[in-house]
Amino acid sequence: THFGFQTVTEGEKRERVAGVFTSVAESYDRMNDLMSFGWHRVWKDHFVASLNPGFSPLTSDGDPRGPQHILDVAGGTGDIAFRMLHTAHVLNGNPSVRVTMSDINRAMLTVGKQRSAQLPASQRAALSFVEANAEDLSRTRPLHPYPSPSEPTTHDSQTQKPEQAFFDPATATGSIPDSSVDLYTVAFGIRNFSNIPAALREARRVLKPGGVFACLEFSKADKHPLFNSLYKEWSFRAIPLIGQLVAADRDSYQYLVESIERFPSQTEFRDMIVDAGFVVAGEGYEDLTGGVAAIHKGMKP
Ligand code: SAM
Repeated sequence: THFGFQTVTEGEKRERVAGVFTSVAESYDRMNDLMSFGWHRVWKDHFVASLNPGFSPLTSDGDPRGPQHILDVAGGTGDIAFRMLHTAHVLNGNPSVRVTMSDINRAMLTVGKQRSAQLPASQRAALSFVEANAEDLSRTRPLHPYPSPSEPTTHDSQTQKPEQAFFDPATATGSIPDSSVDLYTVAFGIRNFSNIPAALREARRVLKPGGVFACLEFSKADKHPLFNSLYKEWSFRAIPLIGQLVAADRDSYQYLVESIERFPSQTEFRDMIVDAGFVVAGEGYEDLTGGVAAIHKGMKP
């Protein structure tokens, strides 16, 4: 059976996703460019611009330039978090915006932390990293150093267990409190979650009333049949091949393509957001590049 269908348990999906992202962590940024012809940068830029962090009527104290806490879930190697900080601090001149970047996978987060060394010191100071499962943000822990996936590990297999890349809730020491976040973002992450309704409930819990849930995810490009068939050809034939040739990892990229196929349509996902208690405006989503990706937003009442 294909991983991700009903026959696969939540635990199995979680384990498989952990394996995929540990294995792709180092090649992730390069592969994103190759697989999307660089489009993922345009989508991410648009996503962040549409949220306009640091200049937002969303802050609960009514000051459009007041402090804002952004939680970027499944933050991976930092593409959204870094853009948020740049927009808030530089474009909107609001240094009181801070971003917490969280991910279930320490290998991805470690690459993110390494990349954050390029940021100006003030942006670095406003950024923190936590390991967490999006389905339970009441259990988190600060990023614990993880050896780069390409580095040989020095552990002695007889006496020591290898460092786990995957978040272990048993070692959690912190929590994202209720009603503590102004803006919750998740980009290209939610389709990997084992229990999406649980993650949406957690998003609602941690957001302040008036806070916004915003998701950027691959979606259905089925409104234009010709475009859709070209897109499917590219996804199912070229992407696993590129994964094999560039990252020597066909299976992980095959998984990524299949997970896109299985993710709900724009309207189905919008309905899940509404069911989780969010209020949506208009259709509740915006298609990007003919629906190859879509942005969904909801407000916690
Ligand atoms: N947001 C980043 C971006 O747009 O480049 C990274 C996206 S990457 C495709 C998906 C991320 O989701 C991976 O880093 C993976 O570890 C993370 N992830 C998967 N399941 C998760 C879960 N249950 N909770 C938190 N993060 C998860």
